Amino acid sequence: MGEAATLFKEWSGYLKPEDISQLESAYHFSEAAHEGQFRKSGEPYISHPLAVANILAQWHLDSQALTAALLHDVMEDTAVTKTEISKSFGRPVADLVDGVSKLDRIEFETQEKAQAENFRKMLLAMARDVRVILIKLADRLHNMRTLEAVEPRKRRRIARETMDIYAPIANRLGLNSIYQELEDLSFKHLYPDRYRVLAKAVKAARGNRREIVGKVMESIKRRLRDNKVEAQVHGREKHLNSIYRKMREKHLSFAQVLDVFGFRIIVKDVHACYIALGALHGLFKPIPGKFKDYIAIPKANGYQSLHTTLFGPFGTPIEAQIRTAEMHKIAEAGVASHWLYKSSDTSLSDLQRKTHQWLQSLLQMQSESGDSVEFLEHLKVDLFPDEVYIFTPKGQIMALPRGATAVDFAYSVHTDIGNRCVAVKINQELMPLRTELKNGDRVEIITAAHAKPNPLWLNFVVTAKARSHIRHFLKTMHFQESVQLGERLLNQALANYKAGLADVNDRQWDKLVRDSSAKSRHEILADIGLGKRLAAVVARQLLSLGETPPPEDGSAGSVVIHGSEGMAVQFARCCKPIPGDPIIGLISKGQGMLIHTHDCPVIAKARADPERQLDVAWDPETKKLFEVSIKLVVANRRGVLAQVAAEIAEAGSNIQNVSVNPEDDGTYTDMHFTLQVSNRLHLARIMRSLRRIPEVVRVSRVKG
Ligand code: MN
Repeated sequence: MGEAATLFKEWSGYLKPEDISQLESAYHFSEAAHEGQFRKSGEPYISHPLAVANILAQWHLDSQALTAALLHDVMEDTAVTKTEISKSFGRPVADLVDGVSKLDRIEFETQEKAQAENFRKMLLAMARDVRVILIKLADRLHNMRTLEAVEPRKRRRIARETMDIYAPIANRLGLNSIYQELEDLSFKHLYPDRYRVLAKAVKAARGNRREIVGKVMESIKRRLRDNKVEAQVHGREKHLNSIYRKMREKHLSFAQVLDVFGFRIIVKDVHACYIALGALHGLFKPIPGKFKDYIAIPKANGYQSLHTTLFGPFGTPIEAQIRTAEMHKIAEAGVASHWLYKSSDTSLSDLQRKTHQWLQSLLQMQSESGDSVEFLEHLKVDLFPDEVYIFTPKGQIMALPRGATAVDFAYSVHTDIGNRCVAVKINQELMPLRTELKNGDRVEIITAAHAKPNPLWLNFVVTAKARSHIRHFLKTMHFQESVQLGERLLNQALANYKAGLADVNDRQWDKLVRDSSAKSRHEILADIGLGKRLAAVVARQLLSLGETPPPEDGSAGSVVIHGSEGMAVQFARCCKPIPGDPIIGLISKGQGMLIHTHDCPVIAKARADPERQLDVAWDPETKKLFEVSIKLVVANRRGVLAQVAAEIAEAGSNIQNVSVNPEDDGTYTDMHFTLQVSNRLHLARIMRSLRRIPEVVRVSRVKG
């Protein structure tokens, strides 16, 4: 407790006494929970959460975050539950601990670049509260600082993960010092030999150069003073990892990478930037083509500075960055400033703005520690609002647009999986295919060999890939269904001649295909089904190609409709025929057959074109459900709609749609229902039971 007591005292420099006492009780709680656990170094486990909390305290994070840091491993490593934490330390703290534990649970399985990028984005997107990420970063920082105690193989894995995932997150959040430290520590543990050699070389070079750098710095400062420019001048030291990366990526030698002096000059306003630039150019000659004015033309992310490179004394180039303190803050804030500039329109939420301010203040505090900074409560951030990140059963991560459903996911894995999907398990639970996926969902698609895409999927899929594959499949299926319908229509037409398809031989078919310049027999059949060719005409042609064309008889039967023909046979939206209604088939060019009721006005209009009309009859065995519209006039009384709906359900029908229009005087209301029924008898039964409701004045079926 000695060490903890010292830290509590330090933290009380910026936290209130009641915060400190909560932290003390969190410390005791955590110590008890981790009792008997030890770190690889041999220290009691509690030393780790304490160190993590202390890192956060260096950044002046609020007491909720520090409390959560003290407790961050208890849910993973001990029997403590979220409810217990919530009871003792409040819901916000419990949420933070839960968030950190969730991130811990994700296993990092592949080291491929794209995967790493998705992983980073997912971590950021999952942690809706940015403090979760900060606790996680502090946790990782402490683990990296104490990595020596871990066995070499695990050490390398953790270092790789830090390099690929956590350092870039820190960088993205603009947390520069954490980023640099994480990168250098990863480099050190990934490539211990290279690190040692490079560190030695840099140390030697710095020793040799210290005097020269000091002289150049002095002359710059003096020249600025002479020009009455108030400025802070800093030498810029390159970090080991960035030296190493530059050597590798640009194929430079160590001497070449290090052979530049870097200076940053911070002044009070834009005007002073240009005066400072003039002063520097007067002191040393600028190298042509190296000057960049990012103040007049800022970079896309909002970065502003003047960059110039000068011929230094002894031939060593001098890189200088000149900027105001404000620009410096934005440069250091990385993506945080990016949020602010990203959407200048309305979509940038207050929350993001606040988060930005907070990150800035955090940065400010890092550099001028000791400043009192006001922390905002409940900081939440959604860094990637347009994407969700989903796990495959094998642990692969896939990025999908927000709003994507299980069907979109299925198609993004593979076209066949999309075409055959029948169900989905999300986080091990069976869910509807239309379910919208959330960040971190583990999604498993269940397929069946003979399953087909459903046209209704088009109503909810959001990815272009899913949409185009479903459309393509339906088009192909449409062709097959048209062939089947065409065959039936042709058979019926042949019956006019007391013949059937069996009476037509291959020679007749081949001839017809050739004569009509079709590609195949199937194409002709599909054309009939689609109404592009008339069955009667094709029948006559086929038979006339035979030896003895039979005489016309005219006693053809009806084409039997069972409702499961698919898209080749559609039921007219105007009259909504149901089994039991007398019906007529109307062939429309390219769209197949539309079934209308006998009394539908559309049929009356089409009388002029008898060739396009077909005798059809219902299959008495039809099992399908059909849509039908009914209208009710009811007296206005409370609960009457519920009563009507209950009665319809009782009669074994589904309600597809309801609309209610009260009449002007308010005594009666019109209700329109679209129902699913199996046939006219079923409908009659429903209407009868509706008439029994006292409030129902009139019930009628609506056609057209
Ligand atoms: Mn930890």
